[in-house]
Amino acid sequence: MDENLLPLSALQHYAYCPRQFALIHTEQLWADNFFTAEGNVLHARVDSGLPEQRGHVRSERAVEVSSALHGIKGKMDLLEIETMPDGVKRYFPVEYKRGKPKLADWDRIQLCAQALCIEDMHGVSVTEGAIWYWEVRRREPVAIDSVLRQVTLGVIADARALLRSQKTPPPTTEKSLCKACSLRDLCMPDSFRSDKSERYVSSMLSGQS
Ligand code: SF4
Repeated sequence: MDENLLPLSALQHYAYCPRQFALIHTEQLWADNFFTAEGNVLHARVDSGLPEQRGHVRSERAVEVSSALHGIKGKMDLLEIETMPDGVKRYFPVEYKRGKPKLADWDRIQLCAQALCIEDMHGVSVTEGAIWYWEVRRREPVAIDSVLRQVTLGVIADARALLRSQKTPPPTTEKSLCKACSLRDLCMPDSFRSDKSERYVSSMLSGQS
């Protein structure tokens, strides 16, 4: 992968688990599970929609975006462009997700990165967007504020640094994330953790003898 152009989806992978990011983008591994397969079906359905105009709002789907400034590129599910009475255009990104709203920032980071691309491409300011969650059939508004921007820029920088290092970090300490991860069989986080603890115990014992 060209490390200068990180895919938007890779940012979500990194935010979810840096090891997952490295397995996919450095080691080129991938596996689908129920969650990713369901997500693929959702995105295929969303992406196949035609552009439409309703009043002052134009909706475009599967929009290719990129930012040379931030070194990111990808495809947005939906971009709503509202033409205001004075002719100024207001851009509103919408991302579709199969699950439900989360406390963690994974989904919001991907949306914010889309907003950064739109700003760079059109010379505008994007202040809000939304994530539509399939499981609860609800649109969650997301403020593209300074806090989310800083988190997103940090993830872009950290993900690029990890890619450049070509290293794969150890499994996340949050075991609950592994349950929903499609790479679990390839990652083998439990084996990694137990191997590490066995080596720790061995080193302790050898140090005592
Ligand atoms: S199984 Fe767990 S540690 Fe491994 S990549 Fe997935 S989330 Fe990360």
